[in-house]
Amino acid sequence: MSNVFGSSVLRWMSAAVLFVALQACSDGDNSLADAGLAESQPMPSPADLVLRGGIVASMDPQIVGATAVAVVGHTIVAVGTDAEVDHYINTDTEVVELAGRMVAPGLIEGHGHFMSFGRAQQIINLNDIDNWGQAVGRVAMAVDRAQPGEWIFGRGWHQEKWDQVPLDAVEGVPLNRTLSQVSPNNPVLLGHASGHAAFVNDAALAAAGIDDKTADPAGGTIVRDQTGRATGLLRETAQRLVAKRGAEYQAQRSEAEVTAELRQRVLLAGEEALAHGITSFHDAGEDFATIDFLKTMEAADELPVRLNVMVRVDTNEELAEKLAAYRETAQDNDFLTVRSIKRQVDGALGAHGAWLLAPYVDMPQSYGLVLDSLAKVEETARLALKYGYQLNTHAIGDRANREVLNLYQRVFTELEQEGQALRWRIEHAQHIDPEDVSRFAELGVIAAFQGIHSASDGPWLATRLGMERTARTSYPWRDLLDSGALLANGTDVPVEPIDAMASLYATVSRRMSTGELFNPEQALTRAEALASYTINNAYAAFEEDLKGSVTPGKWADLVVLSDDFFAVPEQQIPDIQIDLTIVGGEVRYRRQ
Ligand SMILES: [Zn+2]
Repeated sequence: MSNVFGSSVLRWMSAAVLFVALQACSDGDNSLADAGLAESQPMPSPADLVLRGGIVASMDPQIVGATAVAVVGHTIVAVGTDAEVDHYINTDTEVVELAGRMVAPGLIEGHGHFMSFGRAQQIINLNDIDNWGQAVGRVAMAVDRAQPGEWIFGRGWHQEKWDQVPLDAVEGVPLNRTLSQVSPNNPVLLGHASGHAAFVNDAALAAAGIDDKTADPAGGTIVRDQTGRATGLLRETAQRLVAKRGAEYQAQRSEAEVTAELRQRVLLAGEEALAHGITSFHDAGEDFATIDFLKTMEAADELPVRLNVMVRVDTNEELAEKLAAYRETAQDNDFLTVRSIKRQVDGALGAHGAWLLAPYVDMPQSYGLVLDSLAKVEETARLALKYGYQLNTHAIGDRANREVLNLYQRVFTELEQEGQALRWRIEHAQHIDPEDVSRFAELGVIAAFQGIHSASDGPWLATRLGMERTARTSYPWRDLLDSGALLANGTDVPVEPIDAMASLYATVSRRMSTGELFNPEQALTRAEALASYTINNAYAAFEEDLKGSVTPGKWADLVVLSDDFFAVPEQQIPDIQIDLTIVGGEVRYRRQ
């Protein structure tokens, strides 16, 4: 990856030497106050950017009490008091007056789905509508902009959230009459928030060849009114009849159109990430074609945030064929790295997909689902070792977590590997039997959890697991941390919003969306939580020498917060604003 600032290495080297001198001065009294510059010392090279007059949450135990940061090119060159850092300012330096605000390391999303997140911005979002009329209104606006015959996609509606339902509704969902009126010629497909149903207009039904006589597919329902007419609601597999036609339509487009859409997807996801203080993003799974596309964007300096992409393809054959060619670790100011593989052992708890040690209390015949077989994951593990990749396996249920720990342990033992050096991860690590908690630290396995999930899922966990198992196994962050495990935090966006402050708040408070507390003894301290969003995530991607703390020599990935994360009353953490997001020394987001 090219350095957009040209050759600044020499300039920062001289500055780094000076910083060592400053540190040495201040070591004696363990403060950075007024170390000053001796006359004999060379003047530092001017900084491109200085932030001063704030509170530096360095996340570096060596740097305490700093108020200012100097940046040259894409690199932090000095962190200290205003007096120390002022020496780096000349007429060309951009100076940001923090006025007491906090500067922290750029936040790192530890587990999200970058391209799906971008797509969610491209289609109509129906998450926040109050009633069906609003959905129809949003579709009507999209129809105005659409080409004749173009498909219109939306997602996120949920009839339980509406303030009113039309009188002629069937199973709580309206007829598609008004939708067909506003969009007579453009097929419309609106996914339910749960993913388990879709709502379509007549043009979409016609495109899929669904009429009054079409039989329900196996595992799905074409919902009908009393006269036998399809209402537009398609449950489970029935939505595929229409989705398939929509995908075929999308596939007909020219390569240029497809590329433009992908590019927009990246830019939209990046824009949202930056607005939430995210400077790096661990993308939990893209195929090789998508990685190729991201490479072209990186080469054109167009990636808005740094991406650590996990390879996610179905077969081990494809991995064996391509892993060697795709491995990419971080170089100079890199925006794209590929050195990990994603696997998924079970599903999610809400849909009874998490693999459990004991049956679901509300579905006593079921222990959940196994998605990627353990044999398949074990073969992937061997490929990961052969080609120098990290393995990141999705495990939500307590059985899934145990099996993945067993599998990792078996592979480490058989192939004489040191787990601590491999840094393999379990994604989500939600429900863990107490007997397995300490095994994360023992095996060097990272728990990549999502703080915000505890707030969203906490209220209904007991309906699946019962009170006792919920209390004993769910989101045991404190126990994991106390046993020595490394915790990496995130949101699983677009499953949850990318809002890091909301996730951090859940992490430190264990307060649920209902306002009640959920096993609050498992909460983390604010320092532990911020580490789980910065230096820990850097470590979880083998990049702790490059990012994750405000330390001279590291990349200048920084975020300016409106308030002191460590000092505001706890319930105000979600209100902390992102004022500035800086990636590689470049201001990429500024709050209006
Ligand atoms: Zn995910």
